[in-house]
Amino acid sequence: MKSLNLLTENVIVFLPIRLLRSITIDLILMTHKIENIAVLTSGGDAPGMNAAIRAVVRACSYYEVNCYGVYKGYEGLIDNEIEQLNARSVRNIINKGGTFLKSARSKEFRTEEGRKKAYENLIKNQIDALIVIGGDGSFTGALKLSEEFNFPVIGIPGTIDNDINGTDYTIGYDTALNTVVEAIDKIRDTASSHNRLFLIEVMGRDAGDIALNAGIGAGAEEILIPEENMGVDRLIDSLKKSKHTGKTSSIIVVAEGDKSGKNIFELGEYVEEHLEDYEVRVSVLGHIQRGGPPSCYDRVLASKLGVGAVEALLDGKDKIMVGIVHKKVTIVPLTDSLEKRKQKHDQLIKVADITSV
Ligand code: ATP
Repeated sequence: MKSLNLLTENVIVFLPIRLLRSITIDLILMTHKIENIAVLTSGGDAPGMNAAIRAVVRACSYYEVNCYGVYKGYEGLIDNEIEQLNARSVRNIINKGGTFLKSARSKEFRTEEGRKKAYENLIKNQIDALIVIGGDGSFTGALKLSEEFNFPVIGIPGTIDNDINGTDYTIGYDTALNTVVEAIDKIRDTASSHNRLFLIEVMGRDAGDIALNAGIGAGAEEILIPEENMGVDRLIDSLKKSKHTGKTSSIIVVAEGDKSGKNIFELGEYVEEHLEDYEVRVSVLGHIQRGGPPSCYDRVLASKLGVGAVEALLDGKDKIMVGIVHKKVTIVPLTDSLEKRKQKHDQLIKVADITSV
């Protein structure tokens, strides 16, 4: 990877593109024996997965290795739903949400027998390495497959939750944020027209990234996240104070995994009981957060990580995840990507507190 970066960053100015390309390919081919790469998407779909598949397929084409698409994630690997792809197979998908390879959650792959079937199909199709686009569950499965059968795997973080260690951003997160902000903006119109208080549930079972960032971006009064337990009574106090300072409507953003101990509807009832002046409404944004065309940021991120994954494989890397850290494509061991994220939200929480007075 390093030599590649040096080549592309420093020499591109002096060498014709064709010559540079053939030198780069020769250098890589000297160090690898990988001729057939398979790619799949697994777990929850995320906008930008298509752009990542496209980048993997086109990078394979660029480096003159064969690329195979596995349909329906690990389920398709077990059922041998594998098809060769070429650069034209992925035309007109960079702007599409979801994943044209489909995604699935496979129970069978959680078993050793299931993974053995998957491995046998990889061998049957003469595949040398597997790229898995998904979240931490998908990476756990990939690592098991790799360790049990000594098979090279690489992970690309594709999940709207942004909950993967070792990358600043996951593919789909930026699009989901923008979708949530747009939805809250619309709900705010209703909230302010009727003096209502809206509790809006957003995705994030373990990570409050979407709730905090979209909450700040959409001007929420309160934001409840899984990493912090503000307590329902403090929430009521805070809303009462806001009311006294002249607020006539309020937006509270609640991450799915918040620690209030109440689900969003119970929380709504509790707030209504303790705040007589407000009409309380609950809105669960749900699956709209996963859909829609990917943002430009997600398309570019997916393209960088897709190319990075193929280059890393050809460079002999295995059991790693390709991520983005301080704007640079970086690799970390898959085991590190599965560790708990050391994410500190202190600064964002302070900003949210200050800007919602
Ligand atoms: P998201 O973050 O969007 O939920 P994810 O990749 O974490 O994505 P999961 O449903 O957790 O989604 O995992 C996807 C698939 O990975 C599972 O359906 C299963 O096939 C495989 N998988 C998950 N955990 C394991 C495990 N412990 N062992 C083997 N395979 C696993």
